[in-house]
Amino acid sequence: MEHTFDYLILGAGMAGSAATKGIRSRDPKGTIALLGAEPHPPYDRPPLSKDLWSGKKSPEQIWRNIEGLRATLFPGRHATAIDTRAKTVRDDHGDHYRYGKLLIATGGTPRRIAGLENERVIYYRTLDDYHALHDALHPDMRVAVIGGGFIGSEIAAALAMNGAKVALLIDGEFIGGRVYPRALAEFVTKYFREKGVEIHTGARVKGGSASDEGVTLQLESGDSVEAEWVVAGLGITPNVQLAQAAGIEVDNGIVVDEQLLAAPDIWVAGDAANYPDATLGERRRVEHEDAALTMGEHAGKNMAGADAPYTHLPYFYSDLFDLGYEAVGELDARMQTIEDWKEPFREGVVYYLKDGRVRGVLLWNVWDKKDAARELIAQRGPFEEKDLRGKLL
Ligand SMILES: Cc1cc2nc3c(=O)[nH]c(=O)nc-3n(C[C@H](O)[C@H](O)[C@H](O)COP(=O)(O)OP(=O)(O)OC[C@H]3O[C@@H](n4cnc5c(N)ncnc54)[C@H](O)[C@@H]3O)c2cc1C
Repeated sequence: MEHTFDYLILGAGMAGSAATKGIRSRDPKGTIALLGAEPHPPYDRPPLSKDLWSGKKSPEQIWRNIEGLRATLFPGRHATAIDTRAKTVRDDHGDHYRYGKLLIATGGTPRRIAGLENERVIYYRTLDDYHALHDALHPDMRVAVIGGGFIGSEIAAALAMNGAKVALLIDGEFIGGRVYPRALAEFVTKYFREKGVEIHTGARVKGGSASDEGVTLQLESGDSVEAEWVVAGLGITPNVQLAQAAGIEVDNGIVVDEQLLAAPDIWVAGDAANYPDATLGERRRVEHEDAALTMGEHAGKNMAGADAPYTHLPYFYSDLFDLGYEAVGELDARMQTIEDWKEPFREGVVYYLKDGRVRGVLLWNVWDKKDAARELIAQRGPFEEKDLRGKLL
C-alpha cells in the first residue's frame, strides 16, 4: 500500500511524539504520520522504572497526549528502508510512505549479553517489559538485576520497594560509580544494602542458563547467581541502521547540525541524535527525557520551517528509594568534582569541572536550580572551590 504525508516521523516514542506537537504549533494543515515499531501509542518511559512501581502513576497515566494533533499513527510498523532521493520509506508490512519532511526518532536498543536470551531475562526498555515484570511479581520473588547505572539502580530500588528479593550485579565497586564522586557512590551503595538489596560488586556476567523455574547467571569470576527473573540495564546502542543504510553520516548516533538536520529534509532527535551542544561546545548524544522532548519539539518546528538552532542544555533526573536528584550538563566521575553539602549525601550540589570550567552540576535533593546551573555552565570561569561554595544552595 502507498501513503503520502507532508511529515513522516520514524519512531513513535518520546521524541517522535514531541515532534508532532512542534510541527502542529507551526503548521495547522500539513499531514503527519508516525511509524512506531511498538504496538502502543507513544508513552513516557521514565515511569517504567519509577512511578509505575511506587504507585504514583498507573499505566493509563503514562500516554503522551498526541490526540487532537491530527496525526496518523501506524503502530506495530518497523521502518526498514529510507530512499532519500525518492523521499520514500518502506516498512516491514511492505507499505511505502512518500514524505515531504522526515524525522528519524528511533531511540536505542538495549545492549545484550551474548547467549543470554530467555523470556525470564528482560533487557528493560519498553512498556511490554514493564508488564512482563510486573505480572511476574510476587512476594519474595528473587530477581537479579544486572548493571549499576541509571536503569539498573532504579529498577533494583523499585523491585525492592515492592517486596522482591533483589541481587544487584555491578561490574565496578559502587552503584553509579561512573557518575557520582566516590564518597557519594559509596553512600548510595551502602544505602541500597540497608534497604535490603544484595549487592555483588566486580560481578561481570558472561552468560547463563534458564529453566522453567528460573535463570542461573555465570559470572567471569566462576561464581553463579540464581534468580527467578533477570533484568538487565546495560545501556543502549543508538538505532542508526536505517540512516546508515541510506548513506547518512553516523558516528555514535546519527550526526546532525545545529538545526538537528542530518540530510536534506531529514531531521533527527532524541537518543539516536549526535548533535553539537551549543553550551558545552562539543558533540554529544544524550539519552534522557528532557533531551528527547526538547529536541523532538524543536526538530518538529524546524521541519515546519522555523530554521532555528537547538541551543537547550538538557537536564536529567533519577529517583532511588527516597533519594532523588536533577542534573545538568556532563557528569563524569573522572572529572574534578567539588562537593558542597548542606547535609552530607542528603542535600547538596556537586560541581564537575574541566580546566576550571563547570561542565556539569548534580543537584542532589536540591530543586528549582536547573536554570541557575545552566547559567553557571555557560560561564567560562575559571572557577575555584571558594567561588562555588554556597552558589546553588
Ligand atoms: C526504564 C527507563 C527509565 C528512564 N528514566 C529516565 C529518567 O528518569 N530521566 C530521564 O531523563 N530519562 C529517562 N529515561 C530515558 C528516556 O526515556 C529516553 O531518553 C527517551 O525515551 C528517548 O526518546 P526517543 O524518542 O529518542 O526514544 P524512544 O522513546 O525509545 O522511542 C523510540 C521509538 O522508536 C521505535 N523504533 C525504533 N526503530 C524503529 C523503526 N525502524 N521503525 C519504527 N519505529 C522504530 C522504538 O520501538 C521506540 O518506540 C528512561 C528510559 C527508560 C527505558
